[in-house]
Amino acid sequence: MLIDSFERSVDYLRISVTERCNFRCQYCMPEKPFSWVPRENILSFEELFEFVKVCIDEGINKVRITGGEPLLREDLDRFIKMIYDYAPQIDLAMTSNAFLLKQSAQKLKDAGLKRINISIDTLKPDVALKIAQKDVLSNVLAGIDEALRVGLKVKINMVPMKGLNDGEILDVLEYCKDREISVRYIEYMENVHAMVDIKGMNSDELLSIIGEKYSLEDEGFDGHSPSHYYKLEDGYEFGIIEPHKDDFCSTCNRIRLTAGGLLIPCLYFDEAISIKEAIVAGDIAKAAQILKEVVHTKPEKNRWGDEDGELSKRAFYETGG
Ligand code: SAM
Repeated sequence: MLIDSFERSVDYLRISVTERCNFRCQYCMPEKPFSWVPRENILSFEELFEFVKVCIDEGINKVRITGGEPLLREDLDRFIKMIYDYAPQIDLAMTSNAFLLKQSAQKLKDAGLKRINISIDTLKPDVALKIAQKDVLSNVLAGIDEALRVGLKVKINMVPMKGLNDGEILDVLEYCKDREISVRYIEYMENVHAMVDIKGMNSDELLSIIGEKYSLEDEGFDGHSPSHYYKLEDGYEFGIIEPHKDDFCSTCNRIRLTAGGLLIPCLYFDEAISIKEAIVAGDIAKAAQILKEVVHTKPEKNRWGDEDGELSKRAFYETGG
């Protein structure tokens, strides 16, 4: 079991298998072209799997594949199958923009993927084009339909932003309600990579919009999930992720691994240690030691709520958001 210095048990590993993405979401990626981590610096699936085994042996029981866009990495189903075959009991999930999901959902399900969180910030093609800087909506919607058809458990992530998709809070809720899938609104997290003029919406603003149509019950937090849950009068549940309140830091159970092998204890901060050398050398004892060290250095809380806090330098496309 992995316990950090604030007595939190860490049992959730998020792996960003690539920082590359086929979208250029305004709130996530820099506007100007930038250079990707060269392919030769990225760990192979075999190497990543060596470290996943170390993590599972030390007590990790939930693994989420993310990115960048994970479906851009060839043979992703092969990696998922490696993890599933090693530990079929663990919660094996993925986060994706679903652009390439229609053609891969069945393969992913067959490989052992259980759940998928899909980002959908709008139901309007022109707004999707504006946010992602690409005409993406029809592929995304087809990907969601296919994920549901093959029996993956689906959740939707939406980042509400003023002047962009603030008129669609209820539309996305209704879209999810109709399909009996849960939506989680994620408060925009300020970071130096996003375009500067993004203004996010906070949970009070979201609740006031939803509260105009529905009566709401505050259900609080559920275990380690960062989502603050609410229930509508008809029983439908949705969540809001409120990093600016950092309430969820006290139960944070996650660590993050980048495709290049950096092991990161908190999404906000720059601290990280590389497991690459140990894994490439086949030094499993060293990899396990680094894992424990990173867990030990997990900070108590993020700083998105601090007015005078330095802006996070973390690129979400690199660390998996
Ligand atoms: N490409 C995949 C996707 O679109 O879901 C996975 C990676 S993406 C970085 C993971 C999540 O992070 C998405 O739901 C995205 O909306 C969210 N995200 C990215 N940048 C964010 C920001 N600045 N604030 C809040 N959420 C952000």
